[in-house]
Amino acid sequence: MEIKELTALQISERIEYVKSKLGMSDEDLAAVTKEKGLSDAQACEMIENVIGTYSLPYSIAPGFLINGREYIVPMVTEEPYVVSSTINGALLAAKNGGFICSNTGSVMYGQIQLTGIRNPNTAGLKLLERKAEIIEAANKVDPVLVSFGGGCFDVEVRPVETCDGPMLILHLVINTADAMGAQAINAMAEAVSPLAESITGGRAIVRVLSNRAFRRLVRARVTVKKEDLGGEECVDKVVSAYAFADADPYRAVTNNKGVMNGIIPVVVATGNDTRAVESGVHSYACRSGQYKPITIWEKDGKGNLCGMIEIPMAIGTVGGTTRFHPGAQFSLKLMSVNSAARLAEIIAATGLAANLGVLYSLVTAGLHGDFEAARK
Ligand code: NAD
Repeated sequence: MEIKELTALQISERIEYVKSKLGMSDEDLAAVTKEKGLSDAQACEMIENVIGTYSLPYSIAPGFLINGREYIVPMVTEEPYVVSSTINGALLAAKNGGFICSNTGSVMYGQIQLTGIRNPNTAGLKLLERKAEIIEAANKVDPVLVSFGGGCFDVEVRPVETCDGPMLILHLVINTADAMGAQAINAMAEAVSPLAESITGGRAIVRVLSNRAFRRLVRARVTVKKEDLGGEECVDKVVSAYAFADADPYRAVTNNKGVMNGIIPVVVATGNDTRAVESGVHSYACRSGQYKPITIWEKDGKGNLCGMIEIPMAIGTVGGTTRFHPGAQFSLKLMSVNSAARLAEIIAATGLAANLGVLYSLVTAGLHGDFEAARK
């Protein structure tokens, strides 16, 4: 079946498509159909003061080719046109080999704020001298994480001048493996702080992870042939649209909103923390001091369009809500993915696909024009 034809089907027919394509059962699909979903008991395990649950449409974006493998990507969103536009981007990419993705692994920082230290530089060195002891204290907290190849493996110190005087920040450098890792990191930072206090003579105040996940990067790139875009003129227009976003933060923010149109629906569908992803991505977008687009578009020597994205992606395939939300578990099964690194790559590719789909519309029919055509 042509992927575009899915749009014309009934929900029940799309369910049959997923079942036959992936060999899934009615029981599998029940997690996102009306029969099952999130129970009251599960909802109460997630958050406090629950009085019910709140539904959103669960869509599929087939046609993704990522590192040579086909994926059907789950998307949960309230915004019309996002899914179809992302599929358009994915199909354009698939015509020329799809998305090539890579990642840096799941390294995050736990921060311990130490105050009341007269000589932060000397205190910092004392912490570094006791690195092995600090790492051991951190890893005692989470033997399960260590057994999966994760855990604290380094420490860093950062003396900082603040409006409240000098402080010393101790960073625990932690591999969170397939977990998003916030709870694990917070527990480690809290466990290590008495030791850090005794080494430095300071007082530990804030002990928490940093969502600036700059050592947890994921990248995706794509080359789209000029013929598939209707010619080199379209390539030039997309590159020009990118130059506009690169120079003008007003446009960059909107560009990045379009990228997040692809990213956040997958983050939601897999039960991950949208706020952690948003704060990480936007901090990365302004790492140069000016808010910039998180995607780059260039023309290669053959006149084809090359796109790339590089962003922090703190998500997990274990722990958090992903652990027990039936829809999140179904999403992982739909993509047949069980590592945080692979999921992060799929999310980055989906963001790049969304950006490509929107940019193509913007430089051709226009967003409104495409939206009206899709409605007819
Ligand atoms: P978690 O504690 O539920 O699960 C992680 C744990 O699972 C690990 O510590 C480990 O013990 C275990 N585990 C089993 N198999 C593993 C594997 N293969 N790889 C790694 N660990 C494995 O959750 P978490 O990931 O530590 O925290 C995520 C949750 O924390 C999210 O719900 C998030 O919303 C929330 N949170 C976020 C922030 C923030 O971003 N600032 C702050 C507080 C809480």
